[in-house]
Amino acid sequence: MSWSMMSRSFQRLAMAGVLAGAGCVLAMGPAEAGNTPPKTVPVRLLSLNDFHGNLEPPTGSSGRMVDETGATVDAGGAAYAATHLKQMSDKNTLKVAQGDLIGATPLISAAFHDEPSVEFLGKVGVTASAVGNHEFDEGYAELRRIMNGGCHPVDGCSPAGEWKGADYSYLGANVIFKRPTQSAERQALDALGGKNTTALRDLLKEYGIPALPPVAIRWMNGVPIGFIGLVTQTTPNIVTAEGIKDLEFIDEVKAANVASKLLRIVGVRAQVVLVHEGDQVTAGQSPDACSAQPGAGNRIATQVDAEIDMILSGHSHQAYLCTVTDPKGGTRLYSQGGSFGRVITKVDFRVDVKTRDVVRSSVVADNQVVTRTVTPDPEISAFVQTWKDRVASVANKPIGKITADIPNTASASGESPLGNLIADGQLVAAKTGGNAQIALMNPGGVRTGLTYAGSPAGEGDGVVTYGEAFAVQPFNNLLQVVTLTGAQLKTVLEQQFTGGPNNQAFTKILQPSSNFTYTYSASAPWGSKVSNMKIDGVDVTDTQTIRVAANNFLVGGGDAFLAFRDGTDLWSGPLDIDAFAAYFAANPSITPPVPNHITVVP
Ligand SMILES: [Zn+2]
Repeated sequence: MSWSMMSRSFQRLAMAGVLAGAGCVLAMGPAEAGNTPPKTVPVRLLSLNDFHGNLEPPTGSSGRMVDETGATVDAGGAAYAATHLKQMSDKNTLKVAQGDLIGATPLISAAFHDEPSVEFLGKVGVTASAVGNHEFDEGYAELRRIMNGGCHPVDGCSPAGEWKGADYSYLGANVIFKRPTQSAERQALDALGGKNTTALRDLLKEYGIPALPPVAIRWMNGVPIGFIGLVTQTTPNIVTAEGIKDLEFIDEVKAANVASKLLRIVGVRAQVVLVHEGDQVTAGQSPDACSAQPGAGNRIATQVDAEIDMILSGHSHQAYLCTVTDPKGGTRLYSQGGSFGRVITKVDFRVDVKTRDVVRSSVVADNQVVTRTVTPDPEISAFVQTWKDRVASVANKPIGKITADIPNTASASGESPLGNLIADGQLVAAKTGGNAQIALMNPGGVRTGLTYAGSPAGEGDGVVTYGEAFAVQPFNNLLQVVTLTGAQLKTVLEQQFTGGPNNQAFTKILQPSSNFTYTYSASAPWGSKVSNMKIDGVDVTDTQTIRVAANNFLVGGGDAFLAFRDGTDLWSGPLDIDAFAAYFAANPSITPPVPNHITVVP
């Protein structure tokens, strides 16, 4: 489907004569050879990134944003975003996105495999988006279903009926099949214009067979605009291995340059990168400021081919507008628009109708906060309400009670009360079938805290609903158990820290079940930080075997915990959210665990 959409684009280019080559497009007629300024046409891009299914206005700090005046304001919500998008649109506008639109979403979206979010984005006119790492949360096959339509293979159709597919193209130029078949190559060549041109064949040889459309071409005011989609090459470290086992995520810069050449071959000179990778900023800055610390996003923004005119980014959930230098010394835009639909990036520029290239000096960008002081769009409000009603019976179902707040904030050792609670629940759920002895939970998978007051309704009675529990554990990971030796378990714990061969990005303390204790030294070198491991108070020896429960993300080596892959005798159990909910059912009144299982020594 997506390939055929691409095919249509290329056929249109062929009909427009663009496929005849860039040279003829570039040639100036005698009338234009004088001093007359180039004739240009306006184009406006509106973009967003990391929407993460926030159809309802996000709450807490996720629903606030610093605006251009430095004030912190409430921001986000699909109906508000729709109003802002309408107000910001003119007849020259194309709407695009930079990935993580779905995955790790609130229940209103997740309960229906994110179909409501993808439908919303189509309704407001998004035409192309890069895939983000979270687009692969349920695997490549499910992403293809989201793109192309059809009912979920296990859960069936949503209450809205058969899913019709995304109204926009998902792009991933750096997502390649590991073992391309000949027919896949033929398919790719066919899709790229229906002709096995030498140039295209050479490109594919150098590059591999793309598993997603690498580019999309959209026409505006008589000129083609090429969009190149990219996703962070670290995706295999942060999504479940099984779902992407056939895919390779290659260097973003290399893939962008091949895609840029591809666009150039068919005469598309106005080139925009949509990349799901970005940088960190200093807190409290205006969304229009450039305080981004040069990192993985900046590397891409500065290194991709000078033919590329601007880089719209995502992934780090930050807002910034930067000007960077391209490899030929030209300047180009490098931007990001926060997350959760709180910011829309507007980019205005002009395209020379002769060269069909962006006039770089004309590029003007603005990050606009999606304030809630505007009237919410009535059509989108009604749409969100429909899904709210559909999910209400599931979301509002009480599953248990807590006696006080159970926060996901880490103590000095890196443990959090909620992390402990989740691990305790996993241990219980994996004991019978999987013979689990301890459980370990990755801290990044604990998405928010539980409050006694309850959220968002604030009932104030300590009741925990399924919806609240789901907000904590939204990934639909499977609970698994593997056997590790004591020495392997120690290696897993060493891999929490930076400086080892697993290249941990920053310290990530796994949340232990309450029956597992150990000590780590902050100053000891990597490999000898962890000591004194005990299960139920009994010392762990290097040679004993231990059944360790964890989610399938960790068991697959996620978050750089590569030693988990040495585990044997894999057992797969229930979904993590089901294990969590079952623990509430079995323990009617839960007091917050004390995060005192890890002792830190200097
Ligand atoms: Zn991401």
